[in-house]
Amino acid sequence: MDEIIISDLQVYAHHGVYQQETEKGQNFLVSAVLETDTRAAGMTDDLGLSTNYGVVCRFLSAYLTEHTFKLIETAAERAAEALLLQFPHVRAVVLEIKKPEAPIPLPFGMVSVKIRRGWQRAYIACGSNIGDRKGHLDAAVAALKEDRQCRVLRVSDWIETSPYGGVVQANYLNGAIAVETLYPPEVLLSRLQEIEYAEARERKERWGPRTLDLDILLYEGVVMDEEKLTIPHCDMTNRDFVLKPLAQIAPYEKHPVLGRSVIELLREVEQNEERHVLSNDD
Ligand code: ATP
Ligand code: MG
Ligand code: MG
Repeated sequence: MDEIIISDLQVYAHHGVYQQETEKGQNFLVSAVLETDTRAAGMTDDLGLSTNYGVVCRFLSAYLTEHTFKLIETAAERAAEALLLQFPHVRAVVLEIKKPEAPIPLPFGMVSVKIRRGWQRAYIACGSNIGDRKGHLDAAVAALKEDRQCRVLRVSDWIETSPYGGVVQANYLNGAIAVETLYPPEVLLSRLQEIEYAEARERKERWGPRTLDLDILLYEGVVMDEEKLTIPHCDMTNRDFVLKPLAQIAPYEKHPVLGRSVIELLREVEQNEERHVLSNDD
């Protein structure tokens, strides 16, 4: 990715743990590497197609002077988020805040905090088999569209499927949604659960009937297996009702552990089902 680089923008602000720091203030130096595609602007010489670094400097300066944080960690976190929300062409930012006058009673060169934050691509499976199934799935998309920390990129068709997991219940409507998000995986999961509960989701039995189920299938290249969150979703490779809609919106996206594309995984599941049907007929 191309970069627009701002080095050591000087900002007089009031971040600090000590009272004298928040009252009197001090100088901070802010550097930002904006990860963005500059080709369109480069080919046309049109500033409108790029991100104006002058505007970015004014934005960062205003943000860091108008807000006061104890920690430069927090100042960096919030400023990075605000910048990513404000400048749509910036996919990620490496932001460094230096505090050359930090209250350290020893000779030192510089202290600073440097973070990288950006939009992350995630794929979400959605399913419903109670009530207004289409209404619940549409409501999930609408809720994600309203959330500033998410951008809905693509939505699959809603497809009719048979239930999975052995519980006798009504047919499902299933789909997949591609988003870009600023939320880290755990926060995205909580946000999806809020959306489920807003659609009156109840958790009674595993794989039981539900108004709305939202599962994270893939999140950038992340591989994680925590108590509350496994990414990639541990059962996605066995589910045609997940892979079919996902293949509609992201056929060549790769499973980061298996290294195989969604379309390949779907073909495998379908072939296994065919074999299963054939062997039942024998
Ligand atoms: P399945 O995950 O097999 O599709 P389910 O969606 O019916 O089952 P839920 O009741 O929605 O299961 O979720 C049970 C728990 O699964 C959640 O509380 C969550 O912590 C956990 N979980 C683990 N990995 C994921 C993931 N990738 N996406 C969503 N939930 C997950
Ligand atoms: Mg599920
Ligand atoms: Mg779930």
